[in-house]
Amino acid sequence: MGAKKSLLCAYFGITAHPLRRLTHMARPTSFHIHLDRLVHNFRTAQRLHGGRVLAVIKANAYGHGDVACARALGGVADGFAVATLEEALHLREAGIQNPILLLEGVFNAEEMRDVAAHRLTPVIHTSWQIEALQRTAFDAPVPVWIKLDTGMHRLGFQPDELRAVHDRLRGMAQVGSITVMTHFANADGPSAEALDEPLRRFREATQGLAVSTSLCNSGAILGHRAAHGDWARPGLMLYGADPGLPGIAPRGALQPVMRLVSEISAIRTIAPGEAVGYGSLFRAQRPTRVGVIPCGYADGYPRSIAQGTPVAVAGTTVPLVGRVSMDMITVDLTDAPHIQPGAPVELWGDQVAVSTVAQNAGTVSYEVFCHARRAPLRYHAAD
Ligand SMILES: *Cc1c(COP(=O)(O)O)cnc(C)c1O
Repeated sequence: MGAKKSLLCAYFGITAHPLRRLTHMARPTSFHIHLDRLVHNFRTAQRLHGGRVLAVIKANAYGHGDVACARALGGVADGFAVATLEEALHLREAGIQNPILLLEGVFNAEEMRDVAAHRLTPVIHTSWQIEALQRTAFDAPVPVWIKLDTGMHRLGFQPDELRAVHDRLRGMAQVGSITVMTHFANADGPSAEALDEPLRRFREATQGLAVSTSLCNSGAILGHRAAHGDWARPGLMLYGADPGLPGIAPRGALQPVMRLVSEISAIRTIAPGEAVGYGSLFRAQRPTRVGVIPCGYADGYPRSIAQGTPVAVAGTTVPLVGRVSMDMITVDLTDAPHIQPGAPVELWGDQVAVSTVAQNAGTVSYEVFCHARRAPLRYHAAD
């Protein structure tokens, strides 16, 4: 593992496969995960926001492999954030010692015992969670994050409840430091004023309380300096994707961590009038050279994606044609006659942005990442 780019292989960061197995893997489709870029993007978030930064690695690190990402960031992040107790325990079982925030807290009172046993940091967003905390013994005071609802209206205490909640927690022997957090509904939209009202509510509610603050996800880190608090919570930007409007991040500040790559596995020329794939969605107007790529919706390439979506093949881009199948897609190679079977393909990553794929599928990069599956993850180590 002395080489800078040592290549590891793991299925979703759970089972490490020996390198030898890799060379026998026939299907050429895999997710390349560049952990060096993950660290680079984390440092960008740190630089833009300042203060302390929790890396959000819920949902298997947005499909990138939670344990591998946690290991890569363990030395630089001030902690991690996940959505569920199971996700936190998965990290603890893998030996991750860093602080871990449970973004929605516990889902039932019994889970609070695991919070104590595994030294997790709970979010408290509703009063029964305070009672569960009160009934649980902790070895050492636990840091607690209070969630404030400033307008998203999913979870959190209302601004006029905050002081009482804070005072109640302050009075409990179990509770150590207190952080007040909120989450914005419109941090990644085009409007510069979108956060004015939630920010006003946050400031008014927290005024005079001796607490740390945490307000920003990726969109707010990148686009709303006025919202920066003591702790940032970047998710998407760590993986190198722009939330919302492309180009919101400074040039070069974010590097794509995931590249979905494959190869052209077959090429045939079809006559005008002939069709390709299920439903004969694409019908040739001219003699058409059709390339097959062994990657489909079972690997997370969206079935709903538009005809003509760019696919990078051997340094050029060609249009997707025909329906995305479970295991394959087809592209039009007529205008790229030099391309032969075995030519390298990138479905998303450096040459085709994941946001382009998402837009063409009527969704967001978040969802495209979360659907990454089946094809193995190949890790390029941070160093
Ligand atoms: C998922 C999540 C984040 C990360 O959001 P990104 O938009 O991916 O940066 C931050 N805070 C909370 C509460 C979340 O649920």
